[in-house]
Amino acid sequence: MSRRGILTVISGFSGSGKGTVVKELIKKYGYVVSVSATTRAPRPGERDGIEYFFVSKDDFLGKIREDGFLEHAEFVGNYYGTPAGYVDEMLNMGKDVILEIEVNGGLQVHEKRPDTVMIFMVPPSAEELKNRLINRGTEDIDKINKRLARAYEETEYIDSYDYIVVNENIEECTESIHDIIVNEKKKIRYNSELKDAIIKDYKRFERR
Ligand code: 5GP
Repeated sequence: MSRRGILTVISGFSGSGKGTVVKELIKKYGYVVSVSATTRAPRPGERDGIEYFFVSKDDFLGKIREDGFLEHAEFVGNYYGTPAGYVDEMLNMGKDVILEIEVNGGLQVHEKRPDTVMIFMVPPSAEELKNRLINRGTEDIDKINKRLARAYEETEYIDSYDYIVVNENIEECTESIHDIIVNEKKKIRYNSELKDAIIKDYKRFERR
């Protein structure tokens, strides 16, 4: 029985560990992720086409004009966007797709597809978030402060999400998110073929 996949958005503060958890979800459970385009410079070790498509601002703006993004947003001075097309292609193949994107983009996706599962991930505390960003060592202190200020601004959007997951531990957080998606798939609206088969099967008991 071929079924359309489920689309999940995972948002959360920069440094909450979303990236690591999403990598685990791919490795352990075979979720598909979309590779975003960004105008941010690659961090050491990041490869074009793997972590992101690294593009110029001009190219990014051109792609917006061509309607080439499912969603796009600016985040702390750089643009980020999900290329259109790929996500639908994967969902149509029955794959469950995860978008690891910030809140403005998350809301755009939810607007276009109200049946998207919306998950918000937070680290155990604000202090822990600051330490993680400092220890990651990929941004200077000015950029870290901007990301922390942005984290506070993003708290305003939490109510637009369905689920909140605290990332105390990568493994537990990975399992929590997988459980949410597995349960989502049990909803009647994703199981119309099963529902029809049940009705057909029980019709034999119909009172005549
Ligand atoms: P980073 O620079 O740390 O890789 O990402 C910064 C923020 O941008 C993160 O919150 C990340 O989830 C978000 N992000 C990554 N790709 C996209 C995208 O395609 N669209 C949107 N809206 N946000 C994205």
